[in-house]
Amino acid sequence: MYMEFLKAKNEYIAASRRAFACGLAAGSVGNLSIRIPSTQLMIVKPSGITLGEVDETNLVIADLFGNLVEGKAKPTKETLLHGGLYRNRPQIGAVVHVHPVYSIMCANCFEEMPLVTKQMKQITSRPVPILKIKHNTVDEAGMRQVEALLKDRPEACCFLLEEHGLVSFAATMQDAQNNAELIEENARVFWEMAKAVRTSGSGQGESW
Ligand SMILES: [Zn+2]
Repeated sequence: MYMEFLKAKNEYIAASRRAFACGLAAGSVGNLSIRIPSTQLMIVKPSGITLGEVDETNLVIADLFGNLVEGKAKPTKETLLHGGLYRNRPQIGAVVHVHPVYSIMCANCFEEMPLVTKQMKQITSRPVPILKIKHNTVDEAGMRQVEALLKDRPEACCFLLEEHGLVSFAATMQDAQNNAELIEENARVFWEMAKAVRTSGSGQGESW
């Protein structure tokens, strides 16, 4: 149990810092979480710090309903989203929620995001769903939209949030993080393709 916690903690810190270094989240937004194996607990980021500042002294342990179990700070406001994903899909071991620019632009302008890279097609078989959630964070009403999506799309391993960002989830932190980076890459390629098609006026991609 202790060794598993140590491994999870190290993965969580490394992934958070990498996400920040890659520019996937500005300021103190974005939050990653990892489930502590064989428990109903997760490691999450506290409110008010950047992903680049995450370390052993400020991490927070919460239950899957977002209640603080250990740590000095308040857990991130997005704990409802993270905990809800773990509760709804027990096979999920890690969640990456970040705010990269191209993913947000696609979420603001389209109903779903087509898969336009081979790497993205290896991750998932259908276009990336986009959720239009009213509030700044995923509240209980928003979580009901997420739950409906998980039920409707059992293959889904990610979704975009309008005016907000992306959510990627997988059995391991390595996959959740890798997928998050590939989703943003797909968003950037798709955005530039859609722009090129509009500029050329070829009519190709009218359904975009
Ligand atoms: Zn967010």
